[in-house]
Amino acid sequence: MMKIRINLVLAVCLLSLLLSGTAFAHQDGQILQLGLIRNFGYGGLGKIQGNFTLKVNDPPVDLAEVSFYVDGELQEVVLKAPFQYKFHTSEFEDGEHQMSASGVLEDGSTLGSTTIIKTFLSSDQAWSETQGLIVPLLAGVGVLTLLGLGVPFLLGRKKKFILGKYGLAGGAVCPRCGLPFSRPSLSPNMLVGKLVRCPHCGKISVLPQAAPSSLQEAERRYAEEESPQIISKGEDDIKKMIEDSRFED
Ligand SMILES: [Zn+2]
Repeated sequence: MMKIRINLVLAVCLLSLLLSGTAFAHQDGQILQLGLIRNFGYGGLGKIQGNFTLKVNDPPVDLAEVSFYVDGELQEVVLKAPFQYKFHTSEFEDGEHQMSASGVLEDGSTLGSTTIIKTFLSSDQAWSETQGLIVPLLAGVGVLTLLGLGVPFLLGRKKKFILGKYGLAGGAVCPRCGLPFSRPSLSPNMLVGKLVRCPHCGKISVLPQAAPSSLQEAERRYAEEESPQIISKGEDDIKKMIEDSRFED
């Protein structure tokens, strides 16, 4: 499917090269360079919908007249600069169209032009093309966001717990191991509390902010269990605690 499309594009390119090549040869080295500007609407790869301006880029100084064609049918004759033709794709049938122009110089000699081939879409088609581009993009962003938030939250390594330090969201007491920890303020709110993961035993639960009395009780429990670590704080440990606390919420 993709290959056929690429071949088609190649064929069209070759054809327009051939066509413009012939025109080039016949027009004494001069040919009008056509440009297409989108004023309003959709412009995808080779597909357009909306309000556009077909114009002559860098016209020769002695250019006196330009006729604009769509599919070989004369659309407009312009007698002075800027040599351009405004149109809406809805003026034409859906499908592929070839835009071209011819020019007349002050001395009466005529010029051909490059051609622009585009598929004109209906507004419905343009909308579905836009959705086709945006929806996967949004889905991708959504997945990345979930990965960014969810994976570290659920699988993340144990976050260093600092006794007596709780973030903006306050502390909680784990219902399984009974130890205190800080509730990360980024954790999702679940009505009765935050969805949190105990850094000590890894239990995931929904917990409200614990009362100071139960936190103190849990802190005592923690101090008893981990007393060797808590008591022997070297200078490095304190430095590390300060470092860690910068990342506290
Ligand atoms: Zn726990």
